[in-house]
Amino acid sequence: MPRPLHRILDAAELLDQPPLSPTEIDHLASLCHSIMETRHDIVLVQSEAIVALEAIARSVAGPGIRALNVVTGPYGGGFGEWMRQAGASVTDVTFPFNEVAVTETVIAAIEQIRPDVVAIVHAEAATGGTNDVEPIFAAARRVGALTVLDAVASIGAEPVHTDEWDVDLVAIGGQKALAGPAGISAVAVSGRAWDRIDANPVAPRGSVLSLTDWRDGWLRTTHAAVPGLPNWLEGRALIAACEGIIDEGVPAVNQRHRDAREAVCRAATELGLDLWQREARGLAPIATAIAIPEGSAGERLSALNTGLITQGVGELRGKLIRVNHFGMAAIPDMVEAAVAQLTAAVG
Ligand SMILES: *Cc1c(COP(=O)(O)O)cnc(C)c1O
Repeated sequence: MPRPLHRILDAAELLDQPPLSPTEIDHLASLCHSIMETRHDIVLVQSEAIVALEAIARSVAGPGIRALNVVTGPYGGGFGEWMRQAGASVTDVTFPFNEVAVTETVIAAIEQIRPDVVAIVHAEAATGGTNDVEPIFAAARRVGALTVLDAVASIGAEPVHTDEWDVDLVAIGGQKALAGPAGISAVAVSGRAWDRIDANPVAPRGSVLSLTDWRDGWLRTTHAAVPGLPNWLEGRALIAACEGIIDEGVPAVNQRHRDAREAVCRAATELGLDLWQREARGLAPIATAIAIPEGSAGERLSALNTGLITQGVGELRGKLIRVNHFGMAAIPDMVEAAVAQLTAAVG
């Protein structure tokens, strides 16, 4: 469960802190390099990850750009909308939200459309589904498309091999499997991505949604002066979270999340509940979505809102509940607590 900050530390420690130093920012970037498995540039975005994703969408999209956007949940849908608003011609390849992407269908669409950009969400926390992104990126590369991965709900919970998959833009946030803060996020940007962004006349510049501002104001400088005033509480919290992940080891953190998923799926099945995802291959390690059954057990499940168990958002409300076994909740004690809540509700 979230621990109130005042119980972790003296609130006074949060006040009157010095701004992030160049050394801290370089350190945070190098932690991101190792967790994201990349040598790409790291851009820090001074907000929650949804803002980083909007920054990516508006940086790569514009008039004359053809984009293929895979939609398996609400986050994928939103990304396509931003690219459309930026003037791109966007083809959504949409799947029912209780399925993950059918790889062959996406690859066929890529080969037919030959898009400039291919965007996909890795894990949709909202639906508990993980897409098999690697073959999709390989197909995108064959047609010369720039690739975008929303790894906010997968980073830490399952392998994200940015460079091995040769993906150009990857967004992460701290608050899911990294058990870190929500107020700062990071984007890995390849050299190829910078070329395309520079060639895009409508890419945000001089804006909170700009990726190039951080490159020009920080990455391509001598690192003598930090531009602006990056979120220092969140920055230091993300450093601490990433250091914790690296100390434990990314594979061990991934394993904790897989174990949590398996225990929750097993318990749900034993309780006679149906998993929301239709196929076992699509089950995300970050969260397990459970279909709300008819009747009184369904009513009781629909009333749960405990943090560990939350209700579906948007169009998923009333259809599923989510067991959020990520971050600090991806340990046996917390999984047991979540299962106890489910068991009590099912009765
Ligand atoms: C949680 C999440 C985000 C970002 O959410 P914020 O709360 O804005 O950080 C983006 N994409 C996916 C797939 C997510 O699960």
